[in-house]
Amino acid sequence: WRRRAKALAIVKEVEEKCATPLGKLRQVADAMTVEMHAGLASEGGSKLKMLITYVDNLPTGDEEGLYYALDLGGTNFRVLRVQLGGKEGGIVNQEFTEVPIPPNLMVGSSNELFEYIASKLAKFVAEEGPDFQIPPGRQREIGFTFSFPVMQTSIDSGNLIKWTKGFSIDDTVGKDVVGELTKAIAKEGLDIRVTALVNDTVGTLAGGRYTDKDVIAAVILGTGTNAAYVERAQAIPKWHGVLPKSGEMVINMEWGNFRSSHLPLTEFDQALDIESLNPGEQVFEKIISGMYLGEIVRRVLCKMAEEASFFGDTVPPKLKVPFTLRTPDMSSMHHDKSADLSVVGNKLKAIFEIADSSLESRKVVIELCNIIATRGARLAAAGILGILKKLGRDTVNDGEGQRMVISMDGGLYEHYDAYSKCLEDTITELVGEDVSQHIVIQHSMDGSGIGAALLAASHSQYL
Ligand code: ADP
Ligand code: MG
Repeated sequence: WRRRAKALAIVKEVEEKCATPLGKLRQVADAMTVEMHAGLASEGGSKLKMLITYVDNLPTGDEEGLYYALDLGGTNFRVLRVQLGGKEGGIVNQEFTEVPIPPNLMVGSSNELFEYIASKLAKFVAEEGPDFQIPPGRQREIGFTFSFPVMQTSIDSGNLIKWTKGFSIDDTVGKDVVGELTKAIAKEGLDIRVTALVNDTVGTLAGGRYTDKDVIAAVILGTGTNAAYVERAQAIPKWHGVLPKSGEMVINMEWGNFRSSHLPLTEFDQALDIESLNPGEQVFEKIISGMYLGEIVRRVLCKMAEEASFFGDTVPPKLKVPFTLRTPDMSSMHHDKSADLSVVGNKLKAIFEIADSSLESRKVVIELCNIIATRGARLAAAGILGILKKLGRDTVNDGEGQRMVISMDGGLYEHYDAYSKCLEDTITELVGEDVSQHIVIQHSMDGSGIGAALLAASHSQYL
């Protein structure tokens, strides 16, 4: 019983440290807005890079023709082709293939990674059926969705600032990733031109806008997390180029790197950060995104096993291995509705070789998943409030509110129901019913890929 009390005390402490009362979320949102201003004011002015994307026009629906996209995210990459039907035609046809990225390529050399990608692209093109025809004499054009921070120099070039998530390839940093991809494409003997380089958030925003005019921002919750939104060009002091005709510019916030003294952090987050590939970086990402949630839970469970013999007299060895508990497994446990919590029991057994967990301890595991997922989801909601505040859309003016849509994508948002529900509920809590009835959180299915193809179309060399 003493052990049990000790274990519960650890959970209780985590719960207190992870608490996100509304007041705290408002402080986080305010800090986000402040950092947004700072990041827009000057290069390097904030932890938030607020990157200029060179996307000053979002899809209109008039895009027409066959275009390709290549989406390099955190775990998989996708290649797709989309036949766009022009005015009112919509997406006539689309096909995609998804390939896992071999873990050794995430930490190997730049050439190897890009050559691997180009080889899969070549295979995809080679298997093209008669439904998709490129007009004679035309080069294939592709939008490259690259979900890492890039300092763009134009719509179709940009230098990698740093890798994030599980990637660490020193020789790509500082290089033009379109140049790297183009080199690999040429080596494959392919004739394809990259006409747009887009962050996944920007792709999702573009894909969302294609079907809904009221999309103002996009948020990704997948392996990592990030957001993009449409800013007034006049409100970007660090932009010294000509003002775009549209008067707008999409900004890639790179919000995964946000940090603030208001963020509720624990000893487990600190340890995770120190032992990560990128210590001190991506602090927001490390508490809210899919790559890390399960790992945080594992760390707490490990302490409970070590200091309170939570899983018996010895500490299950697997429990000590970083990243053994993946977020999809955490999510399955969290959603376990069976009377004896058999999903939790089976997962503990399969992942950690914990053979005989009691019902009581399974309940505690679920409670812990809930604490960690809830903190992440509520902080993501606070981030969204930060964007709404920056745009002055967090309150209803002159009695009439205009619809605003946030395009969401990513495996975490898509599959972790408790997380996405908590996020949506929290937005309502934060802004109140009057405003929240105008906010639509829209799951944009595969928006980042289609969005990149749409941007490849609107930046075609043949226009
Ligand atoms: P990426 O972010 O790598 O581009 P996705 O958007 O598909 O790719 O997100 C994949 C991530 O989503 C996984 O790394 C995982 O963290 C999370 N995820 C996938 N499935 C689930 C699930 N069932 N429950 C919770 N999280 C999930
Ligand atoms: Mg992705």
